[in-house]
Amino acid sequence: PSIIHLKRDLLVPLSFQSDNAEPETHDARAAAYNSKGVLNTRFGDFPHSSIVGIPYGSQVRAAPLTNNQQNRKRKRKQDTGEDVATEPTTSTGFLHVLAPTAELWTASLPHRTQVVYTPDSSFILHKLQVRPGSVLIEAGAGSGSFTHAGARAAYSGFEFHKERVQKLTDEIERHGLDGLVEIVHRDVCKDGFLVTRKVGKQEEEDTSPGATAVFLDLPAPWLALPHLTRRTRPTPSLPTSTGLTPSPSPGPGASVEKIGETTATATAVRICTFSPCIEQVTRTVSVLRKLGWVDIEMVEVQHRRIEVRRLNPKGYEDGAGPRTVGEAVQRLKWVGKYRDHKREKDSADSTIATVKQNPTEAWKTQNNREKKGAKAGKIVTRIEPEIKSHTSYLVFAVLPREWTAEDEAAAQTLVKQTT
Ligand code: SAM
Repeated sequence: PSIIHLKRDLLVPLSFQSDNAEPETHDARAAAYNSKGVLNTRFGDFPHSSIVGIPYGSQVRAAPLTNNQQNRKRKRKQDTGEDVATEPTTSTGFLHVLAPTAELWTASLPHRTQVVYTPDSSFILHKLQVRPGSVLIEAGAGSGSFTHAGARAAYSGFEFHKERVQKLTDEIERHGLDGLVEIVHRDVCKDGFLVTRKVGKQEEEDTSPGATAVFLDLPAPWLALPHLTRRTRPTPSLPTSTGLTPSPSPGPGASVEKIGETTATATAVRICTFSPCIEQVTRTVSVLRKLGWVDIEMVEVQHRRIEVRRLNPKGYEDGAGPRTVGEAVQRLKWVGKYRDHKREKDSADSTIATVKQNPTEAWKTQNNREKKGAKAGKIVTRIEPEIKSHTSYLVFAVLPREWTAEDEAAAQTLVKQTT
């Protein structure tokens, strides 16, 4: 994305542009900022007034330090024996204003529950083949992390905790996702997935959301599964409510009950359940099999970023020191050798003369030497340990489109015509 660098005078909040206007004490300054709202970070303070309304991608500099803050910083440096003269008089921190995305929301949302992190949600949405036009249902919606990722499809989120429903509904509205996302207060294990829709001016009807994809982030997903049927064939053991898109045409012996208005778009339905224990997985898989789901598989996402680096000729990553005693001993030996070598070199006038006479040439030689050294360095890989991902097992399955007598007859006709 393009980054627009704003002029400095636009970055400083208006009330603090002149030296006189800035409150003297930190408390007074904090109070002045907080009256308008301020983001305090270890890189400096960012009043909301310097952020709101500027284009996405802009860089915003931290507000200038107060006298008190500067004095405190200087004193800290003096105490640790650092050079006070190098202390800048302004804060050097900055931030970039980014357009909100589901990924940024997942990284910063208020946690009301465990949440689904981006490595999992992106894999789940890919496997569920969710895209604009799909209808996705999630139970439970909890903190709304997956909700935001899933809002790229039409989405219904079910949650039985009243306060979470309220907070999530508010967030959805503030983020401009209402209309696309519907949050339903419901215990899905008991009451299933039907949603209330307006059918006339006054009347309402409980109807299937016509889901094409389902995500269950529940402690006991197997209890919700019996509600996820198409109900075109009467099954005595199944409850009457249903959440899925129905089959295109009822087969022989099918129930006359019509579910939703989406018969033309009926398709295979994909499901994912998210469970931390293998015992939950076993129970879920067993119920999925009984209910006719196929292609059942279990996946655990172990997201790791692998950094590939070339070691410098001394055998270390640039800027890094030895990590074992062996490496430290090796390094000391090397440093000793280097010092001896440097002493010899410094006493020989020739090198100094080269630098004095032709600094560019000397630099080039040094640069080439480094390049050659770098080429000789070993390539190493290191796994970044700190990527947030919830270690749960993902169970995927497909409920195929029902194959009716009419479908079979149509297929046979097609085969005859083409052979
Ligand atoms: N998927 C959410 C996210 O990404 O932020 C986190 C979900 S949290 C781990 C599980 C949620 O399921 C809780 O908020 C809980 O209240 C809800 N829950 C548990 N049983 C439920 C049920 N039978 N019906 C609806 N919600 C239920």
